[in-house]
Amino acid sequence: MRYSVLSILKNALAGDVAWAPVWRDPEPQPAYDAIVIGGGGHGLATAYYLARNHRVASVAVLERGLIGQGNVGRNTTIVRANYLLRGNSEFYSHSLKLWEGLERELNYNVMMSQRGVLNLCHSDAQRDAFARRGNQIRFQGDDAVLLDREGVRRIAPFLNFDDLRFPIHGGLLQVRAGTARHDAVAWGYARAADARGVDLLQNCEVTGIRVENGRVCGVETTRGAIAAEKVAIVAAGRSGQVAALAGLRLPIESHVLQAFVTEGLKPVLPGVVTFGMGHFYISQSDKGGLVFGGDLDSYNSYAARGNLPAVEHVMEAGMALMPMIGRARVLRSWGSIVDMTPDGSPIIDRTPVEGLFLNAGWCYGGFKATPASGWCLAHLMATGRPHPVAARLRLDRFASGRVLDEEGAGAQHNLH
Ligand SMILES: Cc1cc2nc3c(=O)[nH]c(=O)nc-3n(C[C@H](O)[C@H](O)[C@H](O)COP(=O)(O)OP(=O)(O)OC[C@H]3O[C@@H](n4cnc5c(N)ncnc54)[C@H](O)[C@@H]3O)c2cc1C
Repeated sequence: MRYSVLSILKNALAGDVAWAPVWRDPEPQPAYDAIVIGGGGHGLATAYYLARNHRVASVAVLERGLIGQGNVGRNTTIVRANYLLRGNSEFYSHSLKLWEGLERELNYNVMMSQRGVLNLCHSDAQRDAFARRGNQIRFQGDDAVLLDREGVRRIAPFLNFDDLRFPIHGGLLQVRAGTARHDAVAWGYARAADARGVDLLQNCEVTGIRVENGRVCGVETTRGAIAAEKVAIVAAGRSGQVAALAGLRLPIESHVLQAFVTEGLKPVLPGVVTFGMGHFYISQSDKGGLVFGGDLDSYNSYAARGNLPAVEHVMEAGMALMPMIGRARVLRSWGSIVDMTPDGSPIIDRTPVEGLFLNAGWCYGGFKATPASGWCLAHLMATGRPHPVAARLRLDRFASGRVLDEEGAGAQHNLH
């Protein structure tokens, strides 16, 4: 069923009883052309573009829980394309362009809102680094505006400009960046993939990956064995565990990342504001809640809840940046498991097992990558060649030394 003003009117007049389920609940088939392990945003987007761009006839997404309950439904929804390094910049640029047409493409309201992302700087050196980054973003064809202190004040007068440790010197603004509704992205891709014949198998945990003579030939699941010559691991925080089923050890650590939301308030924030030096960022949801977060809980974990030191740090940073936040009441906090690579950049590549592909290492920034990630992994799986914008997101870069060290922080997960 196509969503439109007419379909809303027709169904309203008919008592709203004729709406079809948004996707089917099929039984697993014995074999598929391609299997995607993980029904998060990236897995669903991969399946959608396999069917839509490459006409792969039979595709299944295997999800251990319910669609949308992983990172895709737990993130802070920021979408941007403001990366410095070749390898990342063209990839995220492609992603932002896909975001800009996503609602029309999926016939689903993902509430993409280009309200701008403002990164604050606090020293001359940091402003120079932002100028360089801004130039790179513009060379890439995306937008970036370097603001001085008064320019930032015009956008966000409520910030604490004269903090003793981190006075605000200016900022880098990307106007086309913004937020989208996270779970609607999962639902939109799920619905569109299902409409193209993809089987979405929920409560179907992959418990084994079958490999014969160095080639993948299928998976074991809690709903039985399923054969396929192409299998993609798209399991975000659990990538390491799933890859281990095929005997692979990944250059990835799993950490908890927490987020917070306050009670609903009248509009106070014009867009997203990031305070990198304090490890804090904030936006306001369409319902009015202030949505904010900070850095990782720095120990390794598969628990989807974090600890108090990170909570305290985020609250302190929030108070330092915008003291008025102390008047708002925090309603909820949550966490989810993120897949951290040593250089902070992702992986979309083959693995040493023939026919087994990997999409992982999204760190705390994979939501904005969702459309391009699915687009590029589908391209790789269908054609056997990396998509040009993802060609540098290779698994072997940690062995070859061609890392994409975006933050210049070296190989320490808690520093980038
Ligand atoms: C608090 C927080 C805030 C964030 N904020 C942002 C942000 O503002 N902007 C941004 O760009 N990114 C952000 N991120 C990162 C982003 O959410 C993730 O990088 C991205 O969602 C990961 O891809 P995914 O959606 O496919 O992951 P997921 O939704 O986690 O999907 C992976 C799926 O794999 C499934 N799975 C795992 N093991 C198996 C198995 N054995 N069998 C079957 N299925 C399995 C899981 O159940 C899960 O549903 C944030 C993350 C967190 C935690």
